[in-house]
Amino acid sequence: MKNSQINSLVPPVKVVVVGSVNCDLTTYLTDFPLKNQTVMAKKSILSIGGKGVNQAIAAAKDGANVSFIGCVGDDLFASNALNYLHSHQINTDNIRAIKNESTGTASILVTDQRENIIAVAPGANWLLTVEDVYNSEALIREADVVIVQLEIPAEVVKVALELSRKHHVLSVLNPAPAADYAKSLYSLADIVTPNETEAAELTGIEVKDNDSVIEAANIMLSEGVKQVVITLGERGSYVASNEIQQFIPPFLVEALDPTGAGDVFNGVLAVARARKQPFIDAVVRASAAAALSVIKPLAQDAAPDHQQINQFLQ
Ligand code: ATP
Repeated sequence: MKNSQINSLVPPVKVVVVGSVNCDLTTYLTDFPLKNQTVMAKKSILSIGGKGVNQAIAAAKDGANVSFIGCVGDDLFASNALNYLHSHQINTDNIRAIKNESTGTASILVTDQRENIIAVAPGANWLLTVEDVYNSEALIREADVVIVQLEIPAEVVKVALELSRKHHVLSVLNPAPAADYAKSLYSLADIVTPNETEAAELTGIEVKDNDSVIEAANIMLSEGVKQVVITLGERGSYVASNEIQQFIPPFLVEALDPTGAGDVFNGVLAVARARKQPFIDAVVRASAAAALSVIKPLAQDAAPDHQQINQFLQ
């Protein structure tokens, strides 16, 4: 179902994602090569990713009008990425293409044991500036929700959250990958969504069982977070604010590839909150969408669409 058809069925909401655009080359092989060794791999897959893009696609597939603020280089990966975003009706007018620069890439090796090694070259993502965000202030002012992650410069994340606050626009901070400066942004964001590793890095708590999840969430609330959702992979998630503390169980599915579940979760959570769904209902919807994504073999296009999420929740 196309976004335009979905939008006739649900309240249209505007999402702005300020984030990363990557081209991922995933190579599947029996085992990792040794230093200076060349090995033949089984196959490789080129896909468009980056937390920013993945979250934008998840939001668009759930029927939101999505605009993207980011940077690409002037290589083939840039046109691939822009075409991919366009194919999901995402507005790319505020993506700046930088001359003589590479689009962000992730080189991923996956073994038969499903272990991986990943090298990320941020390229153009790291050249996104606060001016790019200020130049997009009108877009943020008109938005229902703004989503940011930490694959772009820290000062850019901060300005995106400041402008959201200035215009009373709901904001979601996905502190991934974890970085210490995220703590200074807690009070600027409406919802903060670490996974368990990020929650551990941000709080210093070893997040391993329910008690430690609750402890980590309490620390984040005491440091200025208003609403936190800690995602716990196949164990579901934990939601905490001053009013609510609740574990949300996972939907039971047979997982094929859990990569990117967090991105689907964030995109759909943001849309549901923008549609004014109560917090817990929004987290349940995000959990359903994320569960549907892990039963697909590839992160790209793993996000379910609006109808698929609705049917799964019936
Ligand atoms: P990634 O970095 O790969 O995007 P993440 O670590 O940020 O993922 P997770 O905590 O692994 O995110 O997963 C996000 C949500 O997806 C979970 O809170 C849960 O609701 C859902 N989920 C993840 N894995 C499974 C699974 N195997 N079965 C059902 N639901 C899952």
